[in-house]
Amino acid sequence: MAARPTPYLDELNPAQREAVEKLDGPVLMLAGAGTGKTKALTSRIVHLLNTGRARPNEILAVTFTNKAAREMKDRVGRTLGQTIEGMPWLGTFHSVCVKLLRRHAELVGLKSNFTILDTDDQIRLLKQLIQAANIDEKRWPPRQLASLIDGWKNKALTPDRLPSADAGAFNNKGGELYAQYQTRLRELNAVDFGDLLLHVVVIFQNNPDVLEQYQRWFRYVLVDEYQDTNVAQYLWLRLLAKEHQNICCVGDDDQSIYGWRGAEVGNILKFEKDFPGAHVVRLEQNYRSTPHILAAASAVISGNENRLGKTLWTAAQRGEQVKLIGHWDGDEEARWIGEKVDGLLSGSAPEAKRRENARSEQMVEEVDRLHDLNLQRGYNSRAQLVDALKESEVFKENVENEDLLWELATRKEEGRSVEVCFQKFDLEDMAILVRASHQMRAFEDRFLTIGLPYRVIGGPRFYERMEIRDAMAYFRVVTSPEDDLAFERIVNTPKRGLGNVAVQKIQAAARENGVSLVEGARILLDNKGIGGKGAKELRILVDNIDRWRGLGVQREVEIPLNDDEVIDDGTTQSAMRFAPAGDNMPHTELAEIILDESGYTSMWQNDKTPEAPGRLENLKELVGQLANFDNLQGFLEHVSLVMDNDNDDADAKISIMTLHAAKGLEFPVVFLPGWEDGLFPSQRSMDESGLKGLEEERRLAYVGITRAEEVCTISFAGNRRVFGQWQSQMPSRFIDELSEEDVEVLTAPGIYGGGHSGATGDFGSGIQDRVQSANTYNSPGWKRMQDRAGQRGLSQPKESKHTIIDLEAVSSHSVGDRVFHQKFGYGEIMEIEGDKLVIEFDKAGEKKVVAKFVTASTD
Ligand code: ATP
Ligand code: MG
Repeated sequence: MAARPTPYLDELNPAQREAVEKLDGPVLMLAGAGTGKTKALTSRIVHLLNTGRARPNEILAVTFTNKAAREMKDRVGRTLGQTIEGMPWLGTFHSVCVKLLRRHAELVGLKSNFTILDTDDQIRLLKQLIQAANIDEKRWPPRQLASLIDGWKNKALTPDRLPSADAGAFNNKGGELYAQYQTRLRELNAVDFGDLLLHVVVIFQNNPDVLEQYQRWFRYVLVDEYQDTNVAQYLWLRLLAKEHQNICCVGDDDQSIYGWRGAEVGNILKFEKDFPGAHVVRLEQNYRSTPHILAAASAVISGNENRLGKTLWTAAQRGEQVKLIGHWDGDEEARWIGEKVDGLLSGSAPEAKRRENARSEQMVEEVDRLHDLNLQRGYNSRAQLVDALKESEVFKENVENEDLLWELATRKEEGRSVEVCFQKFDLEDMAILVRASHQMRAFEDRFLTIGLPYRVIGGPRFYERMEIRDAMAYFRVVTSPEDDLAFERIVNTPKRGLGNVAVQKIQAAARENGVSLVEGARILLDNKGIGGKGAKELRILVDNIDRWRGLGVQREVEIPLNDDEVIDDGTTQSAMRFAPAGDNMPHTELAEIILDESGYTSMWQNDKTPEAPGRLENLKELVGQLANFDNLQGFLEHVSLVMDNDNDDADAKISIMTLHAAKGLEFPVVFLPGWEDGLFPSQRSMDESGLKGLEEERRLAYVGITRAEEVCTISFAGNRRVFGQWQSQMPSRFIDELSEEDVEVLTAPGIYGGGHSGATGDFGSGIQDRVQSANTYNSPGWKRMQDRAGQRGLSQPKESKHTIIDLEAVSSHSVGDRVFHQKFGYGEIMEIEGDKLVIEFDKAGEKKVVAKFVTASTD
């Protein structure tokens, strides 16, 4: 048989090809950002399928985010020219483990229809246990226990394997409470997120036959973002790949950003030991970012001591420098970014975009032509180029826009590209990446105000809204009879006259009889253990739940296919198909019935608060969304897994997400706001002794910058309201670490445009000073860096990178003098600071410049 064509291999460089074509045995691809690791991994999947080495269901491919998994699926599908719904084992660690656990739940004492608890439920449950153990929950908050337990699960530590030091945590009750919690989860037929992996690892460890089955089944294992695997994930992978060793992991130690959640970058380093003879491939060409962006990112990450170190280069043309800008406060930063986004936006229609692009090209050519013409004539000043542009036919629409013309002339003279002045992007091309999710609020507010469509990925989520959670609790009660937490949530919502006492009675009845709360309620009612209005209402609720469950039963019948549905492809395809029996109700309808009959919908209809209409809208949206799923259970599972809510709607939107959520993604335009000490790097990492936390923050900075393809803008604010408190901020120490030649410092027009009286308030002599002082050796940030370097016995960090000006000649000017500056034109001296002048330029606003570049003017 002739070999199938492999066009996808032609898109790869030799190193990538090597990693793709070496299908058997362990392969480790260790390379920096944007070098095509994910592309190679995806091509490897394609190659496995295309060469017939593996069928779709024999490939286990794991990534970290749902978005990444979906993109990988799409890429494979596109390359093979077909949809690959048949790749059931391509997904996130969690989604793959849910499937495995449903198949073998009984091996860890669960039923296959277990519920996946979210953080809220988890905390509620832990709170009950803490109360029952008579521990003061103010001193020992449930959240703290939740995070301890999470940490243990990430390390694959079941309660019986917990080292005594850990068990003694949390007022000496940690181990005990962990054990109780696990027992309680089993009783509820529920798991938390950490359990998904832990249970599967335990199943594999305790049941060699099951493990063997999957070792045979998953003939090829592939892992993206390997640097962020935790111990449990690592054990899981090692177990699965132990026999055939067909495992390919790709990662970048510089992008390890989940140490705080138990990720072990050491897993990468151990790979060659775990899989002897591993083939290690290094990739060095970056295909994503322009040279300035790449260089700036490399400069920052070079500040880390603990790294393997890599070479990265790009063949891309010299693009724009990374932009750096300071703002008065966080809202101002959001306002500026909103404007910038608007400015970068192309007309949305493809035709308009095409026209704009053609026109941009024409404009770029015209600037080139006029510049050359000037040179030929022996002219070489900005003013002359601006004059020429004003007279050009091509720029006749822009004659009024002097800023643009000056910008073009300046760029041309400095040999920088002018394309950027015309560059246009779609909203989808842009992303705002924040360090902390509370930063998102300013952007959401701003974008809502100016009507800029945005999506929040991994932020305050639709599914976390109260009404959505209530509705889902109703669905859970119907689909999972043992789900007591869901029952607790809805038993008195809407109000049914069932207060704490009644609920305690129900709980007691359930405990005594070893049954779920719904059953407990039934027993209580039968025994007349509860009276009054509450009893009547509770009876109605319990009967309703029974009825809803009955309506929702998924019964399938086999029905013959119509003639035209039978595909004669030579296979022995069954001429029957399964379909829901006519007597069971579509789950969307059932959902509406549940919300109506329970009184939940009317509760909000009768509610007079301003939020009520919005909540009703959300409920509608929820029911509408159900249609995309086969049944309620499938939907609930989806919600627990896809909590990062990257709503899949088709409309173009700018993305707002945390730096963590942006891992592996790329965007032509990236905004990185909030680069301030205490926010980024986080206060916690700065307070910590040792460098571990700070180095992780620096890797996060590296991840952030390397998401950008063409335009990367870093910003900071001088003041920020953090949890209701105004704080004044210092620019991030990471700004110091950017390489000067790759950064262009911009001025915030809002601050400088209208003069500098009052507007700058606490800023003293202005933002430029701030950038400058934060970057000179007198600043606290600089001092800290020096101290740290000293402690580490390192050579002192290089001096300031982002001085706006040099410290040289002494000024012979006086305040009030009119002057001319090569770059900024005419202006008036406002202040003299040694050899530097603060000048209010007529066009460029206030700037601080070096005196020697200024000449006296008589204009
Ligand atoms: P990260 O570390 O951020 O996850 P990565 O190493 O996984 O990055 P990819 O996302 O695979 O990098 O690739 C980055 C970009 O470079 C993508 O747009 C991809 O299509 C492109 N690319 C990768 N390899 C090549 C190649 N050989 N030729 C051209 N473009 C490539
Ligand atoms: Mg990648």
